[in-house]
Amino acid sequence: MILPSLSSRSLLATALLAGAFDSSNSLVSAAPDDRLANTRGIVRCGVENIPAPELLKMEEEFKSHRMALEEGGRGGGGGSGGGGSSLSDPLSVDVYLHIIAANDTAEGGNVLGTQIEDQMGVLNVDYQTMNIDFKLKNVTRTVRPEWFNVKPNSKEQADMKHSLRQGGPADLNVYLGCLDPPGLLGYSTFPRDVHENPGDDGVVVLFSSLPGGAAEPYNEGKTLTHEVGHWLGLYHTFQGGCDEPGDFVDDTPAEARPGFGCPEGRKSCKRSTGLDPIHNYMDYGDDSCLSSFTQGQAVRARDQIAIYRGIKGSKQGGSSSGGGGGGGGGKQHTGRPGRYYHDRRSSFERHGLH
Ligand SMILES: [Zn+2]
Repeated sequence: MILPSLSSRSLLATALLAGAFDSSNSLVSAAPDDRLANTRGIVRCGVENIPAPELLKMEEEFKSHRMALEEGGRGGGGGSGGGGSSLSDPLSVDVYLHIIAANDTAEGGNVLGTQIEDQMGVLNVDYQTMNIDFKLKNVTRTVRPEWFNVKPNSKEQADMKHSLRQGGPADLNVYLGCLDPPGLLGYSTFPRDVHENPGDDGVVVLFSSLPGGAAEPYNEGKTLTHEVGHWLGLYHTFQGGCDEPGDFVDDTPAEARPGFGCPEGRKSCKRSTGLDPIHNYMDYGDDSCLSSFTQGQAVRARDQIAIYRGIKGSKQGGSSSGGGGGGGGGKQHTGRPGRYYHDRRSSFERHGLH
C-alpha cells in the first residue's frame, strides 16, 4: 500500500507559509476571528500565536528528522509511511488520567468511572485508522478547588501538572477539569515541546465533554480525540485557511474556516480538490459530526511521535531515539509558556455550562 507522502507539500512550506500569516502571526490568520464564529455566535477556538518563523523552524526540523527516520527505516520492505512508519505496525500509548474536582458532585467534576471507560472506548475506536491503541494505566482523583478551574499557563495549572504527571515523553497524561475561561473545551501540547518542557506535556479537557457529560452537543468524547490529535502532532484542518501548505497533510482538503455544527457539502476554498473535511476530528464540528482521520494524518502523527516521543512499532528501526528531535533533550523545566491550541465554544459562556 502506498501512502501519501508529505514531502512534496512540505517543500512548499518555506516558500508559502510566510504569506499565510497576518501581522499578528496567528496560526489561523487566514481565518480571522470573526470567521471563527458560526451563525449562533459560537466560537470554538481561541489559538495562541506561534510566531511564523518558529512554526517554519519546527516544520523544517521535523522534515529533516523525518528524512533521517525514513533512511533508517528502509530495508524491511512492505508498506511504508512517510518516514518509515508502517500503518500495519500497531502502536501502543499508555494513558494516565487525572480527574480534578472541586467537590464530590457531578457538577463539581467528579466524573463517573463508566464515563472514563466510555471515553477510552471512543478514543480507541477513533484511532483505529492510525493503528494506535491507548491503554489506561492509572486514574488519579484530586479534590482541589484551586486546581479545578484549569487556566492555561497559570501557576496553578503548572502546579497541577507537575504534581500529577506520570511517565515519560511517550506517555499520555490527560487532565480533566473545568477550564478557564468558560467555553474552553480543551488544549494540548505538541510533541516537539516535550523535551524542552516535559512537565507541561499533556492534554487538558473539559470534564463534561466526556460521554454522558453536560456539554451537549460536545459530550460524546470527541474533544479528547481532537486534543490527542494535537498531542500526536496534528494541526487543525483549517490551519492556514485556503493557502498552502495548510495543515501539512496532503489528503485533507484546504478549508477556509472551521466547520461548526455539521455543514454537509461545504466547499470553502475554490481551488481545493475536494469538499471541506468537516467530518475530520481535527475540525470543529459537533461531536456527532466528527468521524475520521485521513491516512495522511496517520502518517504525520506516527512520524511525529516516532521522532519526538520515541513511540515506534516493533517493526520499525531503532536508529532514531525519541530524545533526538526535541532540540536539547534537557529534563529541566524552562518555565517558557506552553504552546497550546485552545479549543473552545463560547456557547458555554452564554449558557453557563461546564
Ligand atoms: Zn484544536
